Amino acid sequence: MKILVAGFQHETNTFAPTRADYANFVNGEGFPAMARGADVLAYADVNIPAGGFIRTARADGHQLEPVIWAAASPSAHVTREAFERIAGEIVEAARTRRYDAIYLDLHGAMVTVDSDDGEGELLTRLRAAIGRAVPIVASLDLHANVTAAMLREATALVAYRSYPHVDMAETGERAYRLLIDAVRAGGALRTHALRLPFLIPINGMCTMLEPARSVYEALATLERDAGLASLSYAPGFPAADFPECGPVVWGHGVDVGRLERAVAELYELTVRAEPQWAVPFLAPDEAVRQAQEIARGAGRPVVIADTQDNPGAGGDSNTTGMLRALIEADAQDAALGLLWDPDAVREAMRAGVGSRVALALGGRSGVPGDAPLRGEFVVEHLGDGKCRFDGPMMHGVQANVGPVACLRTGGVRVVVSSGKSQMLDRNLFRTGNVHPEQMKIVVVKSSVHFRADFQPIAEEVLVAKAPGPMQADSADLPWTRLRPGIRTRPMGEPFAPA
Ligand SMILES: [Zn+2]
Repeated sequence: MKILVAGFQHETNTFAPTRADYANFVNGEGFPAMARGADVLAYADVNIPAGGFIRTARADGHQLEPVIWAAASPSAHVTREAFERIAGEIVEAARTRRYDAIYLDLHGAMVTVDSDDGEGELLTRLRAAIGRAVPIVASLDLHANVTAAMLREATALVAYRSYPHVDMAETGERAYRLLIDAVRAGGALRTHALRLPFLIPINGMCTMLEPARSVYEALATLERDAGLASLSYAPGFPAADFPECGPVVWGHGVDVGRLERAVAELYELTVRAEPQWAVPFLAPDEAVRQAQEIARGAGRPVVIADTQDNPGAGGDSNTTGMLRALIEADAQDAALGLLWDPDAVREAMRAGVGSRVALALGGRSGVPGDAPLRGEFVVEHLGDGKCRFDGPMMHGVQANVGPVACLRTGGVRVVVSSGKSQMLDRNLFRTGNVHPEQMKIVVVKSSVHFRADFQPIAEEVLVAKAPGPMQADSADLPWTRLRPGIRTRPMGEPFAPA
């Protein structure tokens, strides 16, 4: 087959301050940079869905014609220019050349300045250009807000099954097999979907924990036993203010009875677990108190996620609520990282290792309740901020967060960096000569991705809600346009439009 391949990924937080412009997609911002034509094939070995798709489709001898691959960091709405240029190129290629099939590497939670449903809009335009005969299969992020338009216009959709997302390339392979199934079914592949009645905070979606772990195990079993082409569950991205925000279970198969039963069964499992999807968010002082108590009898560190300042979700990694709580509780053998404050690193470098510096550290988020932390710190270590990630999430990646300083006050150490990076690998602490395994309390500026490398060394993981730019509890957001009646958190209040 001649297959059009394209990727266009964005996770849109409609409450965030900054839009995603065309330049953000050119750069990629933590994703691979924008690529066109044959250059996209160079991503065959990267852990992105298009990589897995390209590898398996090529091995089967298909002719791949990549158009574009583009992604940007999560942020507010995608600008009109960015959407029209990138979607325009994909639709134009589909319209002017003949393809046997189309594969799209999408996120599924894109909101543009003109449309609540970026992916639905792209798929609708593609259908308008090529008609319904050519199959279109897309892979989606686990944080996709799957819409009726996406389900109607695509032949089939398949989502990641892990968070942290270790199965991105694998999902591309799944999309390839689904595409082959769709072609074989010759138009007989059916879609069935059910929408959950509550939003889930992203911290509650981690597939290393219950209930997500069991739900995804059941998903694989149901998919196999029902002989379906595919079964998916996307718990969604609960920071997009539009009526179709929220978790969806869906599947594809030729036997409609079996398809509907499997989707219903998986739906029942997710809904029955509603109380378990809730996240016990702790106030910073309560998180530290609990951590101190647990750490007393433990041989391993208690890890606290400072989730509302996660730079992977719009934070700047410089809020001070957790640091303040550690200092006020006189925590011992405690470390926090990374705190992004290039000015503080410069002052520490000027002073030198072993000296004391008076600083107003971090606290520049502008969020009520956050402020710079004024105090005197001992400069314990200075480093170049370069390391290799050895954790499972980004294994082998060479990271460079710029010059770093380890600053200590009492029993609390802070690894301060010149560049911003989510704490997703223990080696980022080591750039400041802090060894997290030897600490009693470790605070990480991350929501879930840290778990891949930190869960194995943690006595326990707690999630704290210090004042920060990323609202972790979906019920805390100022919703205006959700579907009436949907609960804004598991077991929470139903949404009622003003
Ligand atoms: Zn995601």
